[in-house]
Amino acid sequence: MPHVITIGEVLVEFMAKNIDQKFYITGEFTGPYPSGAPAIFIDQVAKLGTSGGIISKVGFDDFGKLNYDRLKSDGVDVKYFSFTNEGATGVAFVSYKNNGDRDFIFHLKNSATGFLNIDDIHEEYFDDCNFYHIMGSSLFNDNIRNAVEKAISIAKKNNIKISFDPNLRKEILQDESYKNFINYILEECHIFLPSEEELKLITGIEDEETSIHFLLDKGIEYIVVKRGKKGCTVYDKNNKVTFAPIKVEEIDPTGAGDCFDGTFISFLDKGFDVKTAALYANAAGAIAVTRKGPMEGTSTLREVEEFLKSQSNI
Ligand code: ATP
Ligand code: MG
Repeated sequence: MPHVITIGEVLVEFMAKNIDQKFYITGEFTGPYPSGAPAIFIDQVAKLGTSGGIISKVGFDDFGKLNYDRLKSDGVDVKYFSFTNEGATGVAFVSYKNNGDRDFIFHLKNSATGFLNIDDIHEEYFDDCNFYHIMGSSLFNDNIRNAVEKAISIAKKNNIKISFDPNLRKEILQDESYKNFINYILEECHIFLPSEEELKLITGIEDEETSIHFLLDKGIEYIVVKRGKKGCTVYDKNNKVTFAPIKVEEIDPTGAGDCFDGTFISFLDKGFDVKTAALYANAAGAIAVTRKGPMEGTSTLREVEEFLKSQSNI
């Protein structure tokens, strides 16, 4: 049974060919690329040699097959990656703006993933689990929230560490029930992996150190603040360590945060301390942005090690 487990969306992504391409004008796209934040996360975990499994649902279609084949060949446990007739595999379209921002159209809510529910969570699957990772982007309906709640209660019973990346958009925080669920996860998680912006949105506190201490006082053990091209900072009760970004040419930022999370958790599972885990995660995030396509940015242990070695020679 896997050491690291996640639950949530698997989808395909189509990327607009041109910068500033509008969705309301007919244009060209490339794809389908395998995608979905939890899928990218677990792919990164497995590529680093850590056993990882995803609980997800796709449709009986070739977009589902594309994801299944990729995850399986990268070493992800697919025991509870299932195919259903209830919906088609989710789809996202992305277009990059001149300033680096992205526009998305998601077809997810009515997709196969939306049918994930409490019956998809099998307690025995968590027998060897050390880390259960939650992506905020997966919590888009009550069925999935109930499934996540069940997994949290299994994790608590078995002393499994719960990690949480809010992966949220500002608009979604207007939803009161979503906000309450995020607060519930914050009470239960041990490792929190927000971006700078998400940390502010979730705590409502402008000053970073104040918000960090507010969360550490709740009982969260480690917080890693991801800062895109500005690197990252890892905090625990007594320490704060900042990692400068590794200089790379950014081709496609989608998925960097998920690769970062996967590497951080994989290294903790291997027994490394948080500082070492963050060092490698910072490198995996940098590698991810140099490659086009959301899941194309995941790297093997050898790639991350060689990338870090090449940096220290400069
Ligand atoms: P998303 O949710 O969109 O995948 P995120 O906000 O969770 O992203 P980012 O902060 O964008 O995550 O990226 C994660 C990490 O990857 C950063 O903290 C940093 O370590 C690394 N990284 C991201 N972009 C760059 C970059 N342009 N150059 C170097 N490192 C980067
Ligand atoms: Mg993120």
